[in-house]
Amino acid sequence: MVDKDEIVIAGAAGRQVMCGHCGGDQYRWRRVLLNSGTSELFGFAAFNPEAVALTCIRCGKMAEFADGALDLRSAPQQ
Ligand SMILES: [Zn+2]
Repeated sequence: MVDKDEIVIAGAAGRQVMCGHCGGDQYRWRRVLLNSGTSELFGFAAFNPEAVALTCIRCGKMAEFADGALDLRSAPQQ
């Protein structure tokens, strides 16, 4: 796994993740917790879902993927 805040390229299900807005392929990433007050209300807190949020470095569009679904690699230096 690459360091947090490092610029990465990402793959999921064998395909490179491309930005849905600008078509860019480089992202900053961070882990996010998905559980909320609502999920605790329904007893799902123990599930404690985590996701990885990718933010396109060109346009800022964000995409979320389930933890473990992504293959993150350091982006080639420009
Ligand atoms: Zn973009």
